[in-house]
Amino acid sequence: MGDATPTEDVDRSDPEYRAWLKEAVRKVQADANRTADTHLLRFPLPEHWGIDLYLKDESTHPTGSLKHRLARSLFLYGLCNGWIRPGKPVIEASSGSTAVSEAYFAKLIGVPFIAVMPRTTSREKTRLIEFHGGRCHLVEDPRTVYDVSASLAADSGGHYMDQFTYAERATDWRGNNNIAESIYQQLRLERYPEPAWIVATAGTGGTSATIARYVHYMQYDTRVCVPDPENSCFFEGWTEGNPQASSDCGSRIEGIGRPRMEPSFVPGAVDRMMKVPDAASIAALRALERAIGRRAGGSTGTGLWSALKIVGEMLADGRTGSVVTLICDPGDRYLDKYYADDWLAGQGLDIEPYSGVLDHFLTTGAWRD
Ligand SMILES: *Cc1c(COP(=O)(O)O)cnc(C)c1O
Repeated sequence: MGDATPTEDVDRSDPEYRAWLKEAVRKVQADANRTADTHLLRFPLPEHWGIDLYLKDESTHPTGSLKHRLARSLFLYGLCNGWIRPGKPVIEASSGSTAVSEAYFAKLIGVPFIAVMPRTTSREKTRLIEFHGGRCHLVEDPRTVYDVSASLAADSGGHYMDQFTYAERATDWRGNNNIAESIYQQLRLERYPEPAWIVATAGTGGTSATIARYVHYMQYDTRVCVPDPENSCFFEGWTEGNPQASSDCGSRIEGIGRPRMEPSFVPGAVDRMMKVPDAASIAALRALERAIGRRAGGSTGTGLWSALKIVGEMLADGRTGSVVTLICDPGDRYLDKYYADDWLAGQGLDIEPYSGVLDHFLTTGAWRD
């Protein structure tokens, strides 16, 4: 009496399942234990500006992007909730980076992995998913990734990870060495250890939610800005307070900008949003390479453009302090896109005017756009 068994294929108290579960959690935790924290790099600005700009380099995780943190959290959440089960596939709707990291963790614990992605996803990311043993299921219309993922999971008895719903809640936002805690630790010995602004772009919205919640929880004065690319509805949804906002084509900046207000995006936690033209994001990427000799993905450019614009505002207002943004993933995934002039021409993107704004700003301190 009162001793119900779920009408499912797995008996959760089965010792064999519990042994598998323990071992899977251990493997994911051991991966975290083996890896080091990511660097906080400086973006060179004239010393006398009295403003320091930092880049949290998330491209150095074992799977090359900030999605390594998310994938680890989602796997632990799914395992501890009893959602991921031995021999059953994990399925994800992704524009690529999350799928690369999840394929890695799926292989680590020995379950199959299927990524449902828009056909426009960069070839290099598809290759990386397959390299980690995952399978790619490409769709024509980016808006269908959610339904296709759910039905693949239903048909296979697998688990639809659903990053766009669970990213914000799978991450330990109060600490546990999350990205925000790590940034503040690394700033401790700087001249402005409490940043005036942290700039984080949004795909799932998980990173900006984690950072903003941590700021509020720790009672810091830092403000959080989320820059949004073209073809994304986050900016409109946030400014108009409209949870039904939508856009009808996919973002050209991989990893960020969504066609619907994702459940994992927490608008109320964010202080400011900024719309950034795609050509400006790419101009900023090229400027990053000139400044620190590193190539990064498109979303890093979106964040950097916005962070530099904020630095310009602080300078104009006579304020000193620090600003932090992220290197989200490496540029070698996009050599045939953001670093290819024929791709830019084919997309009708002219980065020259924006490169001019950046060069002028970095030499004179005056922002004119
Ligand atoms: C996912 C992603 C982001 C945004 O992070 P979220 O936590 O999902 O909002 C930015 N850049 C890249 C390359 C990404 O893959």
